[in-house]
Parts: sequence; structure tokens; C-alpha cells
Amino acid sequence: NLTQRLAKVVKTMRGEARLTEANTAEMLREVRLALLEADVALPAVREFVARVKEKALGEEVVGSLTPGQALVGVVHDELAAIMGADLGPEATQLNFATQPPAVILMAGLQGAGKTTTVGKLAKYLREQKKKKVLTVSTDVYRPAAIGQLQTVSAQVGADFFPSQPDQKPVDIALAALDHARRQFADVLIIDTAGRLGIDEAMMQEISALHKAAKPIETLFVVDAMLGQDAINTARAFNEALPLTGIVLTKLDGDARGGAALSVRHITGKPIKFAGVAEKLDGLEAFDPQRMANRILGMGDIVALVEEARKGVDIEAAQDLAQKIKGGGKFDLNDFKAQLSQMKKMGGLSNMMDKLPAQFQQAANGANMDQAEKQVRRMEGIINSMTPAERSKPELIKASRKRRIATGAGVPVQEVNRMLAQFEQMQSMMKKLKGGGMMKMMRSMKG
Ligand code: GDP
Ligand code: MG
Repeated sequence: NLTQRLAKVVKTMRGEARLTEANTAEMLREVRLALLEADVALPAVREFVARVKEKALGEEVVGSLTPGQALVGVVHDELAAIMGADLGPEATQLNFATQPPAVILMAGLQGAGKTTTVGKLAKYLREQKKKKVLTVSTDVYRPAAIGQLQTVSAQVGADFFPSQPDQKPVDIALAALDHARRQFADVLIIDTAGRLGIDEAMMQEISALHKAAKPIETLFVVDAMLGQDAINTARAFNEALPLTGIVLTKLDGDARGGAALSVRHITGKPIKFAGVAEKLDGLEAFDPQRMANRILGMGDIVALVEEARKGVDIEAAQDLAQKIKGGGKFDLNDFKAQLSQMKKMGGLSNMMDKLPAQFQQAANGANMDQAEKQVRRMEGIINSMTPAERSKPELIKASRKRRIATGAGVPVQEVNRMLAQFEQMQSMMKKLKGGGMMKMMRSMKG
């Protein structure tokens, strides 16, 4: 899966400070493959990868673990943006700004979930928006489909407008509209027939329905399992009708949901709702962030990137790693930086068990409250030292120790203990060298 793939690439990109053509090429190839695997249509994949590339190139890798993870961040943010994150939450709202009844026209292939979604919408509008809802079916080709809508409407307590045999779809819609006006319905939802494939006659029919009923919302209902074909279906409906939104159904299945990206690519219209169950309460406002995670299957990596963004000061850790690799000595300034780093990462208690054994021994089985207090005291001791003492700890002999202890308000033994712990860490650093240092920081975060 993509998470594993990207993790592999992320590793190879370690230690570079900027995203470049060269170090992103492999990663972008993986993103492309993952999107194709998720059944996103090729033109949508191409557009997306180009967008990511443009955003990523030259981006500095500040505060992130590696350029690879910075790129994962860009991929995720761009995907969420394309899914509609930049449209804001209002994008999922239905428009009612019209003289009632507000007409909602449902469009889509047979089996997409139109009739079920009418029931779900009616339930949502009645219960959440306190609307009086009337439903009508223009699916004159399948009497069973009309019966299905009648049943569903009864289940959610919506009024249902029955049609006469031999009535034409447009006439049914107009009669329902007239009825809705006289009954003071707030909303009229028009369910329509669908074919198994795109079909000219059907497109003309729904286009005529649109002209007659003048809906304020024209929702394109599309099955998330549709895969590559989603792009052709979306194109046909988008050309025949001025769509106002999309309903993505069957997201409770195991489809990755690549159809969402294809449909957004073609229509540019907001995905307003997600169908997440056969049951009539299985309708949710569409969540672009969650969809982005689902398509890329990258929840883990995203979590890691988020952590990296707010957590460890990687630059400082890298500087230290560099210094030690280059033969520099780990001094008390570094020790102090390490201590404050620990505090930043959520306190000792949070991370003590992730630290190397030497550290755990240093904590000496004390409880964590005490350990945290001790860290603060250690910092107090280091603060009482002169800069020279911090960078050359071997200067600290008996008389200096007494002065430092007095300054920090602790007994001399505590200064000795702190220096012993520091030496322990210093020798550990020597063993770890550069790469190991980063590894340790990372394991501490984990
Ligand atoms: P229509 O032909 O477009 O009207 O599609 P239907 O509403 O009749 O739905 C076709 C099938 O898909 C039915 O078996 C529905 O129960 C099922 N269905 C619709 N929406 C969802 C959904 O969000 N999740 C699941 N699991 N099934 C759904
Ligand atoms: Mg139907």
C-alpha cells in the first residue's frame, strides 16, 4: 500500500534540505501509482501530480523530519484541497434561497443510489432542517422504482406524490410541483430514471426535466465503487445539466474512492454528501480531509507528518547530530537543549519508557512527577553555570561546584549527580554518532 511505499521513499530522502525535481521524482511516481490503484482516472491523476509538483518544488523542509515527509504533507494538503477543503464547510450545504418549494433534482446512473439518497435527504431535511418534504419519482420505465420511492418516503415520514400510468416524466414533475405549492411544502425532491450506461435519450429526458422544474439543486449521485468509468459518467451528466453538487454513495464499501477525485476533476462541483450505509440514516456531510486520507491510504504517514510539524525541533537535532558526527563534543549546552526538547515533547512521563536503558536507569525508578521536578532542577543547575563551564564541563571542580549549587539552591551532591548523568549521556552520544542520534530522537517521538 501507499503508506509502505512512501515510507520506503521517505527513508531515501533523508538529510536533504529542500524538495527538488530529483528527490521528489520517485515519490511522485509512487503517488501516481497509488492514485491509479485507487481507480482515479488518468487525466485526474496527471492534473493532480502536476499540481503537487508545482507546490512542492523549492519548498523548504523546515520543522519536518525529512523532505519525504514534507512532500507527503504537500500531497495530502493538495488532495484535501481538490476534494473541497478550500471551499469551506458551507460547500456541503444545500441551497434553499428561493421561493418555496425548493426543488432538488437527482441525476445519475441506475443503481447509483438515487432513490435511496432521496429517502436519506428527506429524513435529514425533515429532522435536521425541519422542512416539509414532498417526493416524486419520474422513473416511469420501472413501476417497481416508483414503489420503492413510495416505501422509502413512508419510512422517513415524507409526503409522496403518486403519478398516473402513461404520464410523461416532465408532466409528472410539473404536477408534483403544483401539488407541492398548494401543500406549502418547503422542498420537492424529484427522483429520476437512470440507465446502466450513458444514453442520449435519457440525457435529453433529464435535461427537459431540469428546464421544466427549475431546481435550485441538481445533485449528481455517483457510486464510489464506479472506478475509472466515473470520469465518463460525470462528463456526460455535467454536459447535460448545470450540476450544483455531488453525492458520493457506498463509501461504506471497500472502494478507495478514487471516483471522488475523477468527479471533482471533471465537474469542479462540491461533493455535498457521502452515502455511508444502505439504511436511511446513512448520509453524512462530505469530509474532504477524510476522503484525502482514504484515497491515499496514508493515514499513518499523515499522522507522522503532523507530529513532526509540531513536535521535535528537528533542525536542532540535526545540528547536534552534525556536530557529533564531525567530531564535536556533546557539552552541557547540548544537554540543556535536550532537556528542553524533552519538555516540548510532552514531558518525561510521556517518553521515559521510549528512552534508551541508560536514561531509564538515570530516572532511577523514581515516579514521573519527581523525575520532571528533577529535570527542572537540572536545568536550574545548568543555568547557574557560566558559558565557559557549559561548553567545557571539565572546568567544573570543587569550588565551582559549590558556587553552582548555591546559585541553583541545591546541595552539592545534586550537582555531582547531574554531572554524572551528563557524562553518561555524553558517552552514549559518542557511541550513537550522527545517524543514531536522529534515530533516537525519532524513537523518542514514536
Ligand atoms: P438508483 O437506481 O440510483 O435509484 O439506486 P438505489 O437507490 O435503488 O440503490 C441501488 C442499491 O444501492 C440499493 O441496493 C441500495 O440499497 C444501495 N445503496 C444506495 N446507497 C448506498 C450506500 O450509501 N451504501 C450502501 N452500502 N448501499 C447503498
Ligand atoms: Mg431509483
